Amino acid sequence: MIVNTFVARLCLTRRGHRVLLAVLATLLLAWSVPSQGCFSIVVGKNASSEGCVLVGHNEDDGAPQIVNHHKAPRQTYPADTTTTLRDGGVLEQVQETWSYIWSEMPGMLFSDSYVNEWGVTVCSDNCPSRENRPELTAGGIGWDLRRLVAQRATTARDGVLLAGRLVERFGYVDSGRTYIIADPQEGWLFCVVNGKHWLARRVPDDEVAMVANTYTVRAVALEDTDNVLASKDIAEYARSRGWYDPSAGALDFAAVYANPQAAGHPNNTGRLWSGLSYVTGQPLTPGPDLPFSVVPRYRLSVADVMQILRHDKENESSPVPADSPFVCSLCSGATQTSFVAQLRSDMPAEVGIAYWVCLASPRTSFYIPFHFGIADFPIGYRLESQRPTARAYDRKVQAEFTADPQEAFWTFSNFRDKMDGKGAPAMERLRAEQQRIERDAATIQRPIEEAACRLYENDSSTALRLLENYSKGVYMSALEAMSAALDETPAQTDLGQRADDLAHRMLLIDTHLDTPFELQKRMQDISRRIEGGHFDYVRARQGGLDALFMAVYVAPEYEETGGAKAYADQTIDMIEGFGRKWPDHFVLARSPDEIRTHFGDNRISILMGIENGSALEGDLANVQHFCDRGIRYITLTHSKNNRICDSSFDDEAQWHGLSPFGKELIAEMNRLGMIVDVSHVSDDAFYQVMELSKAPVVATHSACRHFTPGWHRNMSDDMIRLLAAKGGLIQVNFGSMFVNATVNREFTEVQEEVRRHIRDNRLQGEARSRYIHERWGQASFGKAQVSEVATHIDHIARLVGVDHVGFGSDFDGVTEVPVGLEDVSCYPNLIAELLRRGYREQDIRKIAGESFLRVWAEIRQAGERLRSGK
Ligand SMILES: [Zn+2]
Repeated sequence: MIVNTFVARLCLTRRGHRVLLAVLATLLLAWSVPSQGCFSIVVGKNASSEGCVLVGHNEDDGAPQIVNHHKAPRQTYPADTTTTLRDGGVLEQVQETWSYIWSEMPGMLFSDSYVNEWGVTVCSDNCPSRENRPELTAGGIGWDLRRLVAQRATTARDGVLLAGRLVERFGYVDSGRTYIIADPQEGWLFCVVNGKHWLARRVPDDEVAMVANTYTVRAVALEDTDNVLASKDIAEYARSRGWYDPSAGALDFAAVYANPQAAGHPNNTGRLWSGLSYVTGQPLTPGPDLPFSVVPRYRLSVADVMQILRHDKENESSPVPADSPFVCSLCSGATQTSFVAQLRSDMPAEVGIAYWVCLASPRTSFYIPFHFGIADFPIGYRLESQRPTARAYDRKVQAEFTADPQEAFWTFSNFRDKMDGKGAPAMERLRAEQQRIERDAATIQRPIEEAACRLYENDSSTALRLLENYSKGVYMSALEAMSAALDETPAQTDLGQRADDLAHRMLLIDTHLDTPFELQKRMQDISRRIEGGHFDYVRARQGGLDALFMAVYVAPEYEETGGAKAYADQTIDMIEGFGRKWPDHFVLARSPDEIRTHFGDNRISILMGIENGSALEGDLANVQHFCDRGIRYITLTHSKNNRICDSSFDDEAQWHGLSPFGKELIAEMNRLGMIVDVSHVSDDAFYQVMELSKAPVVATHSACRHFTPGWHRNMSDDMIRLLAAKGGLIQVNFGSMFVNATVNREFTEVQEEVRRHIRDNRLQGEARSRYIHERWGQASFGKAQVSEVATHIDHIARLVGVDHVGFGSDFDGVTEVPVGLEDVSCYPNLIAELLRRGYREQDIRKIAGESFLRVWAEIRQAGERLRSGK
């Protein structure tokens, strides 16, 4: 049941005049992933399996974007000519510029990447500095910096020195940035500060360095010029600004020059921590003081770098424990392109330098290899020279998927759009395909390159054609895999039929309905189709429902007035009456075995749980009493703190978790094999229950806080992981305000207003009730869609698997049910959503009831062990 009894009471009066905000709500909820900035990796030559430097980079920029790839030839210029920088500065032109690969994001000033014919690679990562008085000359330099390095440098060290000279001459226009400047022998991190200051550090040959939107170069010995290069006054300038005290030791570049907010931002430090921990194979100490570089636990291949760039904490197992609170996804929803540069110098550059391009997000895309010898990129890798409008972009990305080899960027972006709507099983299959195709590509890469090298001396064009065919082959395999991934979804029409069949063939259990509360207001014959309400026998059979827990709801007010136990007993009497009154329709069940026994005999098993431990009246003996009466779970509290623990809805903490009685209660429920229900409890209470309980724990009707940030009635990812790690599960609440952020906000705003009004006007008694009745009567909320409930289930399945999630509708307890989940006849609609996302029948069986029965059986076994003292 939701928040407050008065809300539930008003559900009938409000049902008449609701405004449908469903469309708006769905639009707003549509996968909004925050932009996280870029991520870069440099692998030293002795830390890579091939003995060459590798550079990996995710370029994250909010859509709409396009990405073009070009191969520029060498160019010669007459002596004494000049070139004009984007910001107006004038620079002497060189006689010849090198040939280079250029990854271009039109309209963006700091998003391009380059690899030139010497293997000099340049890309960057935004790293804000603290400089607020930058010195610029002739408009400064920005966009041109990396391009000039690609055009003019033959080694990474050259590139660093050139970039340094340019920065000292013109001044850097943006707040700060780390440029990765690498070649086949060594990688450098070139940190530039707004104005004329910079410092670069070489990555040790046997180590791996990463950057996640804040400077990573720490204390350096400026005299060690083999490994550190910098503008001359880098220390003196910091001293003059009061940022650095030389008597405190060596210059700690990041500590001195970084913008403190960027340096301490958990998303930056968290991603860096995730990435570094991934390659060390064991978690480092989290926080802002992470090392500049680390020794990997094994030498990294190109495929390993791809897996790091693809790392998404919700979709992947990694060497970093998934339940660590510091884990961050390295691959954000805003990744527009990604690459791995494989810089080998033991072959001619046209063969030895391979640039693996991933368009759109590595999460859903494939890396396609291009050797430096290509004349140009295929047509689909080069689009218009303008950034698209949001409308044009959406039209392309949201259109029906076609694997068009002429439109690589749009094909991959469109595919990401389609995969984002799919479930964990579909993602799992895609990941397997990505690894298979990329692994195959890596396996045949060497033999093909060796053949190309043999041909190259006498017939370079045939050699290059061989390499071109190789990349074409990988590209075609990727297109094929994408089509197959989407084709697996059967036609919409028979999804409904399949879902309906499945709902009736399998055991379907719902762990929370507030039907008794509805019937106490007005008793009706629920063996027939009734008007209103969410439950009756006829609709339940239509929906395939086999067993349900009816909530014996006890209002929080009983804590003060007394009489909770008697009230609960009366409700139990009423529920028992259903079995007697309608013996052909309902049967009271008390165990997993009884549910299985009754399954298929056309009767619906009714089980009971007490919603709100206030019913115990603070007496431990009452646990046995209610257990004897058939109660199988107790929701520890409801919308207010009680004698057991704090509520997620109360204004302030009374116990800061569990009360001493609450702690004894957990032990007693464990002993009796009863289910401890953590829906409605405060976070502190939840964590204390998890610590104390000797059996798995269940949330019988909650959803994911991930989608309703700050709303404590739903569970955070961390809580869900812990719940699952201890063998328990979360049964997803269907209520619109539980699953949809907009409805949730509408609801909490009214709730806040009511609270404030009552407090400010000191309303009591009749006046208070009247006001509450009126205010909620005026309120209207949007409705979620059935697909959003599936999104919550999918989120949990991605986090912890289908063994730890199920249905806990809260029917008759929530006022606003989603469109498509109007009552107990609608479970097949939800099942169809799961089928659409690629869930297999065995997954759905678990979600629909088997997972709950498994957990409940474990709880009962734990009770038996405790009672027998084993
Ligand atoms: Zn509830």
